[in-house]
Amino acid sequence: MSSKTLDHFLQENLQDLKERGLYNEIDPVQGANGPVITINGKELINLSSNNYLGLATDERLKEVAIEAVKEYGVGAGAVRTINGTLDLHLKLEEQIAKFKGTEAAIAYQSGFNCNVAAIPGVMDKHDAILSDELNHASIIDGCRLSRAKIIRFNHSDMDDLRKKAKEAVESGQYNKIMVITDGVFSMDGDIAKLPEIVEIAEEFDLITYVDDAHGSGVTGKGAGTVKHFGLQDQVDFQIGTLSKAIGVIGGYVAGKRDLIDWLKVRSRPFLFSTAVTPADAAASTKAIELLMESTELHDKLWENGRYLKDGLKKLGFDIGQSETPITPCIIGEEKTTQEFSKRLYEEGVYAKSIVFPTVPRGTGRVRNMPTAAHTKDMLDQALHSYEKVGKELGVI
Ligand SMILES: *Cc1c(COP(=O)(O)O)cnc(C)c1O
Repeated sequence: MSSKTLDHFLQENLQDLKERGLYNEIDPVQGANGPVITINGKELINLSSNNYLGLATDERLKEVAIEAVKEYGVGAGAVRTINGTLDLHLKLEEQIAKFKGTEAAIAYQSGFNCNVAAIPGVMDKHDAILSDELNHASIIDGCRLSRAKIIRFNHSDMDDLRKKAKEAVESGQYNKIMVITDGVFSMDGDIAKLPEIVEIAEEFDLITYVDDAHGSGVTGKGAGTVKHFGLQDQVDFQIGTLSKAIGVIGGYVAGKRDLIDWLKVRSRPFLFSTAVTPADAAASTKAIELLMESTELHDKLWENGRYLKDGLKKLGFDIGQSETPITPCIIGEEKTTQEFSKRLYEEGVYAKSIVFPTVPRGTGRVRNMPTAAHTKDMLDQALHSYEKVGKELGVI
């Protein structure tokens, strides 16, 4: 028999979410997650994935993954410190360090795991963390797990950061102080003000931590936001994911040798959870090799991003202030935004609505993630649907 208390809790809360329109129905995708996807037998132009470079279905990556399965099998066999460190994992870490321009790197099972590993790996209850208010959920959880004092600063507001850093230092209460930011903010596509953050960090001796999940493969000719600003020697922690532009699964920290050595003996998801499979490690290594050899996919991504942005702007949509291919189309009112996304779906375009509380009230948007794998034809079709639905709902 199941717990009555649990049954009651679940029923009450699920019903509450459904009544408030906050319950999220998950759409199962049939087949590969490419620029065109199939949901419930319906073909849609996919503007919702993080597969920026189209690498999730790249033939070259599939091939090395298959080879790795044949040679190594399907699993790593144990946590890394016992005997689950394969030469494939070490090769991946060397490749990441080269790519990021750092002394060393450590790979984790996901970007999420990275943050719950690395932050509590170095910060504790005698420390403080200055955290951008729009930082990703996994950063927030990593900060909480560390038990450090969390001090939020207004989004990309450098005056606020400087003021709070000064207060934290002058209080004399903390052993270490860290500043954490996303490299690219995924809701608006804006880039963190890293040169100013680094300057403030130097002034107050802050540890710098940049989670570049949406920047890796996208900014800095593919090498990420820290490289984009040439700050790889000034940023202590460069976090990235292998699950977005890289197209596979996993996450990493790149930095100084001592930092990586420390995380290998002190970060819990590394010590107590099995590493990614041989196929994942081999595919990620190959993906990074491709990015280092050529900027072709990166260039195509930006070209498609510009094309979609120009098209939406010409139609009269508000596309915000994105500095990356992420293209929000700001609709405004929550209900209209949800209706807009639903109508796009009926017209054959898969672009999700994002509304309060994920973004501020009245700034509901449909977020578009163009990729290198989209053709002009696909983008034109999407723009055509945007025009039709925009006029129908009185947005343009
Ligand atoms: C997506 C994302 C993550 C999580 O990455 P996964 O590899 O999917 O776990 C972490 N941090 C940021 C900033 C992200 O955008």
